[in-house]
Amino acid sequence: MTQKTETPEKPVNFIKEIINRDLAENKHGGKVATRFPPEPNGYLHIGHAKSICLNFGIAEEYGGTCNLRFDDTNPTKEDVEYVDSIQEDIRWLGFQWEGDRRFASDYFGKLYEIAEKLIRDGLAYVCSLSEAESREYRGNYYKKAKPSPYRDRSVEENLDLFRRMKAGEFGDGEHVLRAKVDLESQNMNLRDPVLYRIKHAEHHRTGDTWCIYPMYDFAHGLSDAIEGITHSICTLEFQDHRPLYDWFNEKAGFEEPPHQYEFARLNLNYTVMSKRKLLELVEDKHVSGWDDPRMPTISGLRRRGYTPESIRKFAERIGVAKNDSVVDVALLEHCVREDLNDTAPRVMGVLNPLKVVIENYPEGESETFNAPYHPQNPEMGSREIPFGRELYIEREDFMEEPPKKWFRLAPGREVRLRYACLIRCTDVVKNESGEVVELRCTWDPESRGGQSPDGRKVKGTLHWVSAAHAFPAEVRLYDRLFRVENPMDKKVVPNFKDALNEDSLEVVERALLEPSLANAVPGDRLQFERLGYFCVDTGNSAPGKPVFNRTVPLRDSWAKIAKKVENTPKSEPKAEKTPKVAQKQSKQEETAPATIEFDDFAKLDLRVGIVREAEQVEDARKLLRLMVDIGEERPRQIFAGIRKFYPEPEVLIGKPVVVVANLKPRKMRFGISEGMVIAGSDEDNVRVATFDGPLKPGGKVS
Ligand code: ATP
Ligand code: MG
Repeated sequence: MTQKTETPEKPVNFIKEIINRDLAENKHGGKVATRFPPEPNGYLHIGHAKSICLNFGIAEEYGGTCNLRFDDTNPTKEDVEYVDSIQEDIRWLGFQWEGDRRFASDYFGKLYEIAEKLIRDGLAYVCSLSEAESREYRGNYYKKAKPSPYRDRSVEENLDLFRRMKAGEFGDGEHVLRAKVDLESQNMNLRDPVLYRIKHAEHHRTGDTWCIYPMYDFAHGLSDAIEGITHSICTLEFQDHRPLYDWFNEKAGFEEPPHQYEFARLNLNYTVMSKRKLLELVEDKHVSGWDDPRMPTISGLRRRGYTPESIRKFAERIGVAKNDSVVDVALLEHCVREDLNDTAPRVMGVLNPLKVVIENYPEGESETFNAPYHPQNPEMGSREIPFGRELYIEREDFMEEPPKKWFRLAPGREVRLRYACLIRCTDVVKNESGEVVELRCTWDPESRGGQSPDGRKVKGTLHWVSAAHAFPAEVRLYDRLFRVENPMDKKVVPNFKDALNEDSLEVVERALLEPSLANAVPGDRLQFERLGYFCVDTGNSAPGKPVFNRTVPLRDSWAKIAKKVENTPKSEPKAEKTPKVAQKQSKQEETAPATIEFDDFAKLDLRVGIVREAEQVEDARKLLRLMVDIGEERPRQIFAGIRKFYPEPEVLIGKPVVVVANLKPRKMRFGISEGMVIAGSDEDNVRVATFDGPLKPGGKVS
């Protein structure tokens, strides 16, 4: 296998660094095999596009392979509609999977054999606890697991029960097959995870052949290994599943198993990015379907007018890193603008027409002006646009009493009509309610083609159409689907659907377009001068009756953001190392109110803790490792950055301290920190807060 060298345009990321290292060590015989493993329970979204570009991109770059494997282990949620759409979306993005599409269900037979092997090896057992009992037995992070009373069933009994589960002798939920991994582990995934459950349900591919189905963790890693995947790339939430991934592959006996690597999933502001949430929007008819142009789905973006190139470019620019962040949707918009700027023909159309009568142009006559489709790219050709006595311009391009620096039309002012001529406004016609309904103008016949004949300055240039020749069509303008940056933030809205933007779709039923657009066909992409990039809708257009979707307006808010970021001091996380990507860590800081409610404070679970052990952490200049008893089964391990202030950490032993007990455990290089101790500080010193008398561990602090 030949190994391609890095091209300079393709940025290196940590995954490619790993692959480079593996290739240098000739791991997997120099082979690079990735896979994209969607669950066919919804349409793909832009987050998936990041994963697709990464997996297929790596295969392309290294001359390797990328499989498409549907993870169809959950028969009740899956559908062939999703299987088809997923394939279409991947192809549209410009990628082709290796060989045939695959399904985890192709391996149901093999997975079953592996499960029997685990039973025979004493590594799996049939457990007959109810779901509720099971939960109770498993304990939680701070509570040890109790072994299931069925854990020591004999191999024979287990095999017999498992086979009868398969044969359909039991009802849903009566038994499960569990792996014997590690009940002591603080990683809950390892506390004897379920491998198989009984589900009497029709599967979209295997029909009713099976009534037991493998669980995701069991099926996923083994499917990777069966396919000979070398680098299994997934998102961070699977990090805690990795020990299990390795365990299954090892116990199944794979010689050179794949390795799992995790990267941060893509989050985009002003949208939601979970198939379940998107399905809700579809089912509740907040959008017209999965491919509604406001949806962050690949099919929605395609229908909106996004190009595959722009999405691939976006994926490249956001990069691949290991810490979560939110990407500004303005960057996505910037990428499609950049692409369409080079490729989209320029045309003219008026969305909100205001009639203009050229008084010195003869009635009933007309002429045409030649207009290039792309000023910078003459190869795209040109077309003739008709001009006559009556025209339409954009209503917003006229003001009766303009402010300073208004270069568009106003009484007495002169402007250029793009590719046509100069006109001057001589009079304004209003209706009874005082609304301007028509402008009377004169044109300068010497300015044909749009040049100023005597070099006089005319700053404004307007788009326009001829009234007699205009082609009326429906145009749809889109805004963000949500009003807030993070619709999933419960502090902002209780339910994400409450944050839907009521005005995300504006339908212009009768825009007036230049006549050449009558021939536009679904999928065509164009720039309407001064208004934005548009495409012909693939869903609702009819022959001779195109409907136009605005992909993006021309104004590039990203360029502004990028500039601002460039000018601010560098405090950005250096993770996603592409230039100018304003990765917003979190909006919270900016929006946090100066005071909090009493209820907010009550969310903190503060407990009395007694320090049982205190020692310095090797390799960490600032840290002490404390073992603090807060009245639970075992003391908590807490890392505190107070080493400098406690050169003899033993002085802390026996002290009652205040522990924040309901913090999510935090993984650190040295271990997991299971809480926080409260300390006070001044300029020179930090002291741990203690109580002035003895208190029992676990007591509430308020
Ligand atoms: P969702 O949470 O939207 O339902 P999922 O993770 O359940 O998505 P899968 O079909 O299981 O969707 O995902 C297929 C692959 O795409 C997985 O490897 C997953 O890690 C990856 N993926 C899903 N969402 C994102 C995202 N937002 N950014 C990057 N990769 C993603
Ligand atoms: Mg999933």
